[in-house]
Amino acid sequence: ALELSGIEKRFGKQTILKGIDIEARPGEFIALVGPSGCGKSTLLRIVAGLESPDAGRIRSGDRELGELPAAKRDVAMVFQSYALYPHLTAAQNIAVPLVMRRLSGWQRLPLIGRWLTPRAVREEIHARVRQVAEQLEIAHLLDRKPAKMSGGQRQRVALARAMVRDPRVFLMDEPLSNLDANLRVHTRSEIVALQRRTGVTTLYVTHDQAEALSMADRVAVMIQGCLLQLDTPQRIYQDPRHLEVARFIGTPR
Ligand code: ATP
Ligand code: MG
Repeated sequence: ALELSGIEKRFGKQTILKGIDIEARPGEFIALVGPSGCGKSTLLRIVAGLESPDAGRIRSGDRELGELPAAKRDVAMVFQSYALYPHLTAAQNIAVPLVMRRLSGWQRLPLIGRWLTPRAVREEIHARVRQVAEQLEIAHLLDRKPAKMSGGQRQRVALARAMVRDPRVFLMDEPLSNLDANLRVHTRSEIVALQRRTGVTTLYVTHDQAEALSMADRVAVMIQGCLLQLDTPQRIYQDPRHLEVARFIGTPR
C-alpha cells in the first residue's frame, strides 16, 4: 500500500500542492489526472524523493518513505522523455539500476540480497535483465542501441529499466505521450497487463481522461493543487462531485 497524507508544496510564493491525501491499496492502479500545471509531476517527484514536500507524510507498507533517500525507497519512476543512454544497448540500459550499486569484488546485489563473486553478479544481472525483457517482449532488442529502436520499443526498454529492481511502487509520468495514437492504445493495455501481472502499486499520471478512465482501478482528479475526487472510473464519470471534475472529465450534463 502507498499512503500520501497532507502533502503540501510551495515554489516561492505559489502553493503548488495544497494538502494531497491518497491511499492506494496494495497492487492498486491509480491514475492521476488534471489540467497542465495542476501539480501532477510535482507530486510524483515528491513520492520518488526527487523533490521534498513542505508538509505531509508518505508511507509504503510500514515504511516512512519521507525519511528515506530516493535510492532506498523501492520506488521506480518512468518519465515522459524516457532518457535512455544513447551509447548503451537496451540490455545495458536496463541493467543500469542494478550495476549502479556495484563495487569491486564481492558484493551484495540488492535484488537477491546474497553475497556473490563478481562473475556470479554478472550472471545474476544478465538473467534478471533477460527475464524482464521477456516480460516486456523486447528480448530480441537487447543488443540494440536506442537510436535504432522505435518510440514504442524505447518506451518498453524504459519500463523494463524501471521494473528491473522489483519496485514496491511504480510511478509513471505521462509515459505514452511521445507515442502516436495507435501505439498509445496498444501500449496502454500492455502497461495494464504488466501492472496486473506484477501487482506493483502504481500511480500513473496522464492528462488524457480516456486513458485514465480505461486503465485505472481508481482515478484521482486534481485541479490547481487540490485533489477534488478519488473514485472508480465509473463514479468519476457518472457522479462527478465538483463542476470542475465534470468539466475536466467531460461528463455530459
Ligand atoms: P503538466 O500536465 O503540464 O505536466 P503538471 O500537473 O505535471 O503539468 P507540475 O509540473 O507539477 O504540473 O507543475 C505544477 C506547477 O508548479 C506549475 O505551475 C509549475 O510552473 C510549477 N513548478 C514546477 N516545478 C517548479 C520548480 N522547480 N520551481 C518553480 N515552479 C515550479
Ligand atoms: Mg507534468
